[in-house]
Amino acid sequence: MTTNQQILLASRPQGEASAANFRLVETALPALNDGQVLVRHHYLSLDPYMRGRMNDSKSYAQPQPLDTVMIGGTVGEVADSRHPTFKAGDKVVGMGGWQQYSVVDAGQPGMLRKVDTTHIPLSAYLGPVGMPGVTGWYGLMKICEPKAGETVVVSAASGAVGSVVGQLAKVRGCRAVGLAGGADKCKYVVDELGFDACIDYKQHPDLKSLSAALKDACPKGIDGYFENVGGMILDAVMLRANAFARLAFCGMISGYNGEPIPMTYPQLILTNRLKIQGFIVSEHMEVWPEALKELGTLVAGGRLKYRESIAQGIAAAPEAFLGLLKGKNFGKQLVKLT
Ligand code: NDP
Repeated sequence: MTTNQQILLASRPQGEASAANFRLVETALPALNDGQVLVRHHYLSLDPYMRGRMNDSKSYAQPQPLDTVMIGGTVGEVADSRHPTFKAGDKVVGMGGWQQYSVVDAGQPGMLRKVDTTHIPLSAYLGPVGMPGVTGWYGLMKICEPKAGETVVVSAASGAVGSVVGQLAKVRGCRAVGLAGGADKCKYVVDELGFDACIDYKQHPDLKSLSAALKDACPKGIDGYFENVGGMILDAVMLRANAFARLAFCGMISGYNGEPIPMTYPQLILTNRLKIQGFIVSEHMEVWPEALKELGTLVAGGRLKYRESIAQGIAAAPEAFLGLLKGKNFGKQLVKLT
């Protein structure tokens, strides 16, 4: 336990990201100072937001500096501690980045949080009981504001965020309709996650066809939409939205390589009096305790299902990340590091 394999951002992508944008290095682990904790990562979370951090452009967050360890959420175990609150063996969640170990200044607020794995598996703290789960909870509860009997639609429905949105909408007595890429993902969304319907958007190459499929799946129109993708999917949802529908803009993954994703009928915002609100989950820390309590209870009780795609070893992280941006993942994308 003296060396640490890390993945650095080596260069910025032009268009699509590639494996050449990353570099694997091996460094010596430093000795701990007072107040520091050494964490051995068990899992690294791969998330679409990381693509944005690779660019050097104006956004809600600072770009990832070149030649530094890629940012990322991690769960793991305290390997050594010089902080009174943490002891070897504690299970913790933090932002350890794309590396096997991290040295954390544990006294700084929000750097490291102990988690209880009695009823919730450690990896779930990077998925439904972590940032993606709270993202789904926030957008649904605070922006879509679902009421029993309403119809809620979510794109990227089989993924880490989307899977939570639809299941929470069901808990609140709504009709939940997903959009996902491929028959397997759609079958999972309905049969395992309990959505009422799921549309395989890849079977609908044009707006007319996708809009007709949404009309079938949402006979009473759409009251809440949780947007993860953008582009034609958003256009089709807007055509089926009811008056006063609420649209939570969470992600626009179809445009993450910089391509424009125009909105075809913005006049529908006016004529249907739509509410559209974008959000960044880390700017709403005040809801995390309430959201994590509900999500943790549902997961521990087996009432919130989730699925994981797990790549093995830190060297596999770049390919797994590039796959996530293309829909090769099925559920929460993780990298196992132990
Ligand atoms: P997912 O687990 O859902 O994985 C991403 C999925 O996006 C892929 O599996 C794929 O699913 C779908 N996808 C990729 N490219 C396209 C495309 N061109 N068109 C349609 N679908 C595509 O990721 P997450 O659940 O982690 O994230 C979902 C969204 O939430 C992302 O947009 C992300 O950026 C956003 N997000 C926003 C946060 C915020 O604070 N606002 C916080 C966390 C996440 P399929 O095969 O079904 O197409």
